[in-house]
Amino acid sequence: MIAVVLGAPGSGKGTQSRLLSEKHHLSHVATGDILRSEIAMGTALGRQADGYVKKGQLVPDELVTAMLASRIERAPNDDYFLDGFPRNLRQAEELDKLLKRWDGRVDTALFLSLPAAEALKRLSARQICAKCGAVYNAVTKPVRKPGVCDACGGDVVARGDDAKETAVRRIAVYEKETTPLLDHYRRRGILREIDAAGDPIRVSRAMEAALADFWDHRDGDGSGGT
Ligand code: AMP
Repeated sequence: MIAVVLGAPGSGKGTQSRLLSEKHHLSHVATGDILRSEIAMGTALGRQADGYVKKGQLVPDELVTAMLASRIERAPNDDYFLDGFPRNLRQAEELDKLLKRWDGRVDTALFLSLPAAEALKRLSARQICAKCGAVYNAVTKPVRKPGVCDACGGDVVARGDDAKETAVRRIAVYEKETTPLLDHYRRRGILREIDAAGDPIRVSRAMEAALADFWDHRDGDGSGGT
């Protein structure tokens, strides 16, 4: 199964995808996480991507698409949760071409819907662990010990691109580049819209229900997937 998760920066894509991937043994591929790790390691890709990420712009399609392809090529038969890819129509087309090589396709698109003002508010309070990527929120989900990850003891910091001006740009880029994907997947009949405001546990349940619905229809036997 290939599930893509769509939503504005701050809508909870990463947190929710990570949770559900662990629970259902899906491979979680977050292009933003991979890029941040390439940047931290100072690889050639990281050096090319750095400026774009810092400014809140999309990294060129060719770079991100090649990066995603090499990840999927390693285990083409896995079930995937794609978080942060595709980000525009061109990437969606490239993804279709890529998956076709294994007779695959995007099976379901989960859209975490959140007003821009709320997304911005969340980004201003977001903190992440520089080591394991765990996501916190200074207001709603603070770390137990300031600056230290509860999960791995790594440093917990605000993401540079969550600074107000960059966050505003990222939301504008999302609205211009990524929201056309909603219609793209709606036309295919695979878009599931989930209200991402409020309690994360409720959001998580709604995402699970959407996945279970897909599995039930696919299997036709109500077994509900993994
Ligand atoms: P994210 O962690 O998903 O918010 O992504 C952080 C940043 O990584 C974005 O603002 C972009 O600069 C870059 N990025 C992540 N995924 C993509 C993608 N699919 N295409 C282009 N740039 C991306």
